[in-house]
Amino acid sequence: MKEFTYTALPSRVIFGPGKLASVANEVATIGANRALVLCTPQQRAQAEQVGALLGDKLAGIHDGAEMHVPIESARAARAIATDLDADCAVAVGGGSTIGLGKAIALDSALPIIAIPTTYAGSEMTPVYGITENGIKTTGKDVRVLPKSVIYDPELTYSLPVGMSLVSGMNAIAHAAEGLYAKDGNPVMSLIAEEGIRALAAGMPVLLETPNDVDARSQCLYGAWLCGSVLGHVGMALHHKLCHTLGGSFNLPHAETHTIILPHAMAYNSLAAPAAMARIAHAIGAEDGPTGLYALARQLGVPTALRNLGIAETDLDRACEIALSNPYWNPRQIEAAPLRALLQRAWEGSEPR
Ligand code: NAD
Repeated sequence: MKEFTYTALPSRVIFGPGKLASVANEVATIGANRALVLCTPQQRAQAEQVGALLGDKLAGIHDGAEMHVPIESARAARAIATDLDADCAVAVGGGSTIGLGKAIALDSALPIIAIPTTYAGSEMTPVYGITENGIKTTGKDVRVLPKSVIYDPELTYSLPVGMSLVSGMNAIAHAAEGLYAKDGNPVMSLIAEEGIRALAAGMPVLLETPNDVDARSQCLYGAWLCGSVLGHVGMALHHKLCHTLGGSFNLPHAETHTIILPHAMAYNSLAAPAAMARIAHAIGAEDGPTGLYALARQLGVPTALRNLGIAETDLDRACEIALSNPYWNPRQIEAAPLRALLQRAWEGSEPR
C-alpha cells in the first residue's frame, strides 16, 4: 500500500427528505442568530421557503447570486450582509450561490450554512472562485468551508432532469479523479467509489421518475461523497481541461465535465489501472472510460463538444492553453494525445 497523509476537513451534515425544516436549529447550532439567505433570482421561491422556516432568525434574502461570482456581486452581497447585521449566511442553491457565500466568508469570516440543490459539490470544499475583469481566480481557505450542510433531496425535485444528469456526471468526475489523485488516500478512495456507485444507480431512475425520492436521495448522497473527495484531494487532467474550456471558451460547467470525463479517463487509463477498475466496479461496467461513455449515452446527456458551440478550429488553441500551465497528472500531458482527446470529445466519438 502506498504511503499517505490524510487531513479530514471539519464537516457537519444533515441529510434526508424534509430536513430543510432543521435550518433554524442549524443557525442556532453554529451560534448565529441573524441569517442572510442567498439565492439566484430563479430560486427566490425556495429562499423564501427557507426564510419562513427561519422565522425571527431571518435577517433578509438576497437573490443576487450569479454564475462565476463576479467581484461586483460579491461586494454587493458583503455590503448587504453588513447593513442587515447578519451573523451567518444561508446559501440555498448550486455552486454559484454557495460560491457567493464563500466570497462573503472570505472577507468577513461570516459562517455559511449550505443547502445544496445541485450535485456540484462546492459545499464540501474550502475552494472559492471570484471573477474580476473576466478572469476567474480560485483559491483555498478553510474559512469558506460551510459550517453545516443540509442535504434535502426534496429541494432537487425542481432541478430539471437534464440539468440533474449533467450535474451528476460533474460529481462523478470529482470522485473519478480523486481515485488517482497524487495526494489520495484509502479513505477518500472508498468514499469516491461509493459516491460514483450511488450516482450511477440513482441517475437512470430520474429519467423515468424525476421525483422518485429514493433516486433523488441516492444522487444527493453520491453528490455529497463526490464533493467530499473534491474537497480533500487534488484534481488533475480532467478538471484542468474543463477549467480551460469553461474559462477560455465560455462553455457551460456541468455539460463540459460530462463530455470530457470518459475521454480524460481514457487518457489516464493505462497510468491509473486501479482507479479505472474501481470506476468500472462502481458503475457495473467492464471498463471505466467506455463504461462512463455508455452511461452518458444511456442518460441522453451531451457527449460532443461541438454541440456546446465550440468550433473545431478552436481545438488547437484549447490544446495550447491546456499545455501552457503544467500540473501533476498520472500520465504526462503531451500535445499529440491531448489534441486527439479534444478531437474525440468534440466529435462525441468513443473514448480510447
Ligand atoms: P449553478 O449554481 O450555476 O446553478 C445553475 C442554475 O440552476 C441556476 O440558475 C440555479 O438557480 C438553478 N438551480 C440550481 N438548483 C436548482 C433547483 N433545485 N431547482 C431549480 N433550479 C435550480 O450550477 P452548479 O452546477 O451547481 O454550479 C456551477 C458553479 O459552481 C461553477 O461556477 C463552478 O465553478 C462552481 N463550483 C465550485 C466548486 C468549489 O469547490 N468551489 C465546486 C463545484 C462547482
